[in-house]
Amino acid sequence: MTTVLVLNCGSSSLKYAVVEPDSGRQLADGIVERIGDDGGVPDHEAALRTAFDELARAGHHLETLGLLAVGHRVVHGGPDLYQPTVVDDDMIETLKTLSPLAPLHNPPAITGIEVARELLPDLPHVAVFDTAFFHDLPDSASAYAIDRDVAAQWHIRRYGFHGTSHQFVSQQAAEFLGTPLASLNQIVLHLGNGASASAIAGGRPIDTSMGLTPMEGLVMGTRSGDVDPGVLVYLWRRAGMSMEDIETMLNKRSGVRGLGGQIDFRELHRMIDAGDDDARLAYDVYVHRLRKYIGGYLALLGNTDVITFTAGVGENDALVRRDALSGLAPLGIELDEHLNDSPARGARRISFETSPITVLVIPTDEELAIARACAEVVG
Ligand code: ADP
Repeated sequence: MTTVLVLNCGSSSLKYAVVEPDSGRQLADGIVERIGDDGGVPDHEAALRTAFDELARAGHHLETLGLLAVGHRVVHGGPDLYQPTVVDDDMIETLKTLSPLAPLHNPPAITGIEVARELLPDLPHVAVFDTAFFHDLPDSASAYAIDRDVAAQWHIRRYGFHGTSHQFVSQQAAEFLGTPLASLNQIVLHLGNGASASAIAGGRPIDTSMGLTPMEGLVMGTRSGDVDPGVLVYLWRRAGMSMEDIETMLNKRSGVRGLGGQIDFRELHRMIDAGDDDARLAYDVYVHRLRKYIGGYLALLGNTDVITFTAGVGENDALVRRDALSGLAPLGIELDEHLNDSPARGARRISFETSPITVLVIPTDEELAIARACAEVVG
């Protein structure tokens, strides 16, 4: 048996999983939360030790797990780092210089890598980047229409994120349909706390909704998605907010939470049912933006074969799926309400068999995708 330990470090949480890349079997997984919080563990090193203890208690001892490598999810690799790569000191230095591009995500990932390398020095550590899948976006999709010299100097482009998930889910969709990836035009909707959409032609992404940072695009749990850049300038100039205040607002106090006070869609639906107008508006803005991206991607692809929902909201929220695609029969999308409402889990079709565009729900598995990328790198 060979396995990969997959680590996903956030500022206050550490998610871990032990995955067998060949079979796709997940032997164990867990999350250590409240890092640095009263009542939680003090730091990331303690969090990783806690994860090891939890694994041992479940009968998984590091020595006998057959670990091949440790895979680290890294959000931003900047312009040069995108292929899954074995971590060395130089890479850590490069990642540190990139932290301003992903101030919320990269610093804890770097800490996680440093701690894991100390605790597991004999294993190769592999960084797997969220941006990888979108590295070769067509220029028309990756370039911002801003002063090109400024863009070049500061490496400003649309990088895209959740790439591991978009790639995995689009491959799963092809497998589910029994059709070669190369002959499918797909839209993938990754709707979790973070949310992004992608248009994929023959396995290659031609556009995605996130940009320089994971803030662009769809409305998310706490992030605004698209806003007029003039809003930032106005708040800075007129409301006297600092750039840090604005950044925190757009990342943490916007999106569904900013409008509706809630991040979890189950709670949001309960509030809407109870007549809460703010929750209603949050939901309506969320769905409106989602439909706009779907429409945009239908036009970019020209001829779409399949639309796939994934991640927490996409996999579980039948109302979001219905409202995102309702009334689109003229565009070839015929959702089967009965299939859509069914509490089934796993990969499934939710459109009528006769629908020109097939609609699927496919659970994402970023841990497995990261484990497989690691296994490939370390051979
Ligand atoms: P992350 O982006 O943090 O990985 P997930 O993909 O796990 O998040 O998505 C988490 C979100 O999924 C929750 O905040 C919630 O809104 C939504 N969610 C989870 N389960 C359900 C459900 N049964 N019905 C509706 N929404 C759900």
